[in-house]
Amino acid sequence: MPFDKLLEPLDLGFTQLKNRVLMGSMHTMLEELPGGHEKAAAFYAERARGQVGLIITGGIAPNKEGVVFTGAASLDEPSQIPGHKQITDAVHQEGGKICMQILHTGRYAYHQGCVAPSAIQAPININKPREMSHEDIVRTIADFVNCAYLAKEAGYDGVEVMGSEGYLINQFLVRRTNKRTDEWGGTYENRMRFPLEIVKGIRDRLGEDFIIVYRLSMLDLVEDGSTWDEVVQLGKAIEQAGANIINTGIGWHEARVPTIASNVPRGAFSWVTARMKNELSIPLVTTNRINTPELAEEILAKGHADMISMARPFLADPELVLKASENRSHEINTCIACNQACLDHTFTLQRCSCLVNPRACHETELNYEATSSSKKIAVIGAGPAGMASATIAAERGHKVVLYESSDSIGGQFKLAQRIPGKEDYAETIRYFEKMIAKHKVDLKLNTRVEIDDLISHSFDEVIIATGVKPRTLDIEGADHPAVVSYHEAIMNPEQIGNRVAVIGAGGIGFDVSELLVHDDSTKEMAIEEFMQEWGVDTSMSVPGFFKEPRPKEAKRKVYLLKRSTGKHGKGLGKTTGWIHRSSLKNKDVEMLSNVEYQKIDDAGLHIRVGTEDRLIEVDNIVVCAGQISLDDYSEAIKAAGINCHVIGGADEAKELDAKRAINQAAILASKI
Ligand code: NAP
Ligand code: SF4
Repeated sequence: MPFDKLLEPLDLGFTQLKNRVLMGSMHTMLEELPGGHEKAAAFYAERARGQVGLIITGGIAPNKEGVVFTGAASLDEPSQIPGHKQITDAVHQEGGKICMQILHTGRYAYHQGCVAPSAIQAPININKPREMSHEDIVRTIADFVNCAYLAKEAGYDGVEVMGSEGYLINQFLVRRTNKRTDEWGGTYENRMRFPLEIVKGIRDRLGEDFIIVYRLSMLDLVEDGSTWDEVVQLGKAIEQAGANIINTGIGWHEARVPTIASNVPRGAFSWVTARMKNELSIPLVTTNRINTPELAEEILAKGHADMISMARPFLADPELVLKASENRSHEINTCIACNQACLDHTFTLQRCSCLVNPRACHETELNYEATSSSKKIAVIGAGPAGMASATIAAERGHKVVLYESSDSIGGQFKLAQRIPGKEDYAETIRYFEKMIAKHKVDLKLNTRVEIDDLISHSFDEVIIATGVKPRTLDIEGADHPAVVSYHEAIMNPEQIGNRVAVIGAGGIGFDVSELLVHDDSTKEMAIEEFMQEWGVDTSMSVPGFFKEPRPKEAKRKVYLLKRSTGKHGKGLGKTTGWIHRSSLKNKDVEMLSNVEYQKIDDAGLHIRVGTEDRLIEVDNIVVCAGQISLDDYSEAIKAAGINCHVIGGADEAKELDAKRAINQAAILASKI
């Protein structure tokens, strides 16, 4: 597919962007590490080499009050310029352009000195902000301008003023968080004065040849947020004040609507930018869950926006644009919107990376260099760990044979892709399929390789990635015909009855429950259905555009059980756990903790909860009780004197997860 629209340059008058792709801001935590600017420079330079039209950095605070957490990055002193210059020089050497995002977190800051227009605590922060005085506000505007000035001195092509996601600027704009009665509160003219003064101040100080992107919160998705008329009024005023580009912001961090998780349909929010297109004349950027060049091209072709922002897709594959331009989009390692190694890391103050590309944010440490001594390597098992180790080792020049006992590659991802909202996991299997062919991995499907074969083929190294087998139940009636494994339930949901007990509330228990409450088809949810299910007011009549969620009726009655006490889903991802929980609650899934399983018979599942005996009358019981490692090889291989490595679930079933498996595989394959 040619990408005529996507690859078309964008003329901003004083400067040209090489195409319509903007790499959206992501807080990688690199800047906060020792030697962080060098790491960040390598990270951004690789994306510039991959032909991104315009890069926006992670948020940098204009003063110490605005940092995300104590010690997080700010640009408020000239002494900080050399560090940033490393980044801008590296990007410019690759022919790229880069803007620095100025982010003041306001009441979202994780430190006790946080400030806000009014002293109202955010529901997602333990710290209560101090109300800003008039002098604080004037000084903060000056800090934004000074920060932009220092950014220009450091070589940035421009700045993005972060006006969305519920941060300080957003907090000024809406009555929910701004109860002031002075010239910064009350009427909308007063409430929008703060961002306008910032944009005007930057333009006045820095002249015309400096890019100003403004991230406009188009849908707050919180009660008492902006109305559409207010958003349009602000957009027009920001354009007048001198911005060159307006980027779309969707949802405050405290919103109870998923906006970028995998259950959000692809391109679900581009209709919002499209609506703003009629109102403004400067270029508009659309965003959220756009993860392929094909979809980006389609959105541009429909005229919904002038540019496409993708953030996480550039963690997954720095060469996304380059591959599209060379007609190799099938080779793109697609972001599956899992958040597991990016946002979940950032929100727990760990360095960001990517589940499907562990090199992301590790460009100075993890590299797949060509080998000087090619080895014969056997990889057993074509799940995530096996696929990753085989393809990276082959890319480096080793001769790799990949054995898989079933008739296709993918391992646990073959199950994951069947879960509603996880359809994108199929993209990872497609990517590895292409890499297996490209790097000439000798794939042997339907082959349960024998130890003798491994020995007789004289492999130099054997990598065991045979994964796991599900744990079975050890209670009376565990062999009752109503009991099924999660594998059976996921592969054949149409054979599961209308009332189901799911034993085990880990990631798989949640996934199985999600599958069973939906229709027995894995069709991706339509955008309008998603908006209804989560309460997005697409008529835009309610301020903030958030209304009562109206989920579809559940297909089955599901009980999700666990032995431990406490909240369900505690072990799920920091940024997605609440979505999985809400989704099941919306479908009336009954979540029981502190459960003792007693027996299974024709009547159903007998349990005790505390001191109460209870019968759960169900047609089926699905066992999602974790896994045990599956490794029938390593002992014999080691005994035969062959170098042997055990990775993924085969190594550590308890920690079975694709992030760990692929990372472990990549590190091994980079060194072998
Ligand atoms: P898991 O997270 O270990 O959960 C299995 C649960 O089964 C345990 O938490 C335990 O909970 C229960 N259990 C263990 N032994 C049992 C027994 N003998 N009888 C009854 N219950 C028993 O395993 P999983 O759900 O299979 O997930 C595996 C991995 O896949 C996870 O670590 C995760 O990384 C990944 N994954 C994640 C997601 C996600 O985040 N959305 C989705 C899918 C998979 P109790 O002791 O409380 O009963
Ligand atoms: Fe995308 Fe998951 Fe990688 Fe984050 S960790 S960039 S969501 S694939």
